[in-house]
Amino acid sequence: ATMPPLLSAIANAGRHGVLVKSAVVMERLGQVDAVALDKTGTLTEGTPRVADVRPLAASGLTQDEVLRLAAAAERPSEHPLARAVVAAARARGLVVPPAEDFTSTPGAGVSATVEGRTVGVGSPARVLDDRTGHPVAAALEEEGRTAVLVTLDGTPVGVLGIADRLRDEAAATVTALGELTGTAPVLATGDNARAAARLAAEVGITDVRAGLLPQDKVTAVLEMQRAGRKVLVVGDGVNDAPALAAAHTGIAMGRAGSDLALETADAVVVRDELGTIPAVVRLSRQARRLVV
Ligand code: ADP
Ligand code: MG
Repeated sequence: ATMPPLLSAIANAGRHGVLVKSAVVMERLGQVDAVALDKTGTLTEGTPRVADVRPLAASGLTQDEVLRLAAAAERPSEHPLARAVVAAARARGLVVPPAEDFTSTPGAGVSATVEGRTVGVGSPARVLDDRTGHPVAAALEEEGRTAVLVTLDGTPVGVLGIADRLRDEAAATVTALGELTGTAPVLATGDNARAAARLAAEVGITDVRAGLLPQDKVTAVLEMQRAGRKVLVVGDGVNDAPALAAAHTGIAMGRAGSDLALETADAVVVRDELGTIPAVVRLSRQARRLVV
């Protein structure tokens, strides 16, 4: 027997390294006419590293002390930034103390009790509740870093600059998706506007929405869909899960993706190549032509 077109398209997508969860999804993929992409872990490789450790002068702390406290608070987190901070502390041979009362706020940061004191690590703009963030962070962000502010009992004590490589195929994928959908792709990120604008320029995105909380990503998608668009969302994080669910079709990046994103998404890029996404949209369109 010959396989129905949508099922052979699913098999084909699998050969490209994309797990499409159902025939309905395979069909819907070809309908998308707009795209919203996450930044960290989606357009970037998602294996960030700590490039700068800047203790704030007033804290009297050393680089190692700032990094040790930050790593303690970050250790329970599965966020790629958290892994980078813990790895940096280990690389310096620091002994990372245990943390209690860990809490994380998707799109904002983490907090925990370390050695009896409250340590916070997170977005400077969110921690300070000020869109402009922190001047030391801003200087790093101008260079394209993701800056996180480290606080001790609520007082800023240091800034970490975290660098993540753009995926080799990011710009080509943005171009291909723009051509396929006939609409300029949107960057929707929780990261700061300065780093977002810099990366967007490198991949040819002009529509940049930065500093978004998970719910803000949903709002952005729903606005596009109210304007008649069928939006493809591509993301990797816990912070992307609500937008993946709200999207016409949601695709998660598999390798560094959070469990929640992988479960919520309609399809998963297993082989970690962004370039397979336009290929799978094309497969869907071919299959749909055979079905109807
Ligand atoms: P993106 O949308 O680019 O993938 P997220 O929404 O996951 O980014 O995170 C947005 C911002 O929130 C980060 O740039 C960082 O400032 C802060 N943040 C989130 N999680 C953490 C964490 N575990 N440690 C430090 N900062 C964090
Ligand atoms: Mg992400």
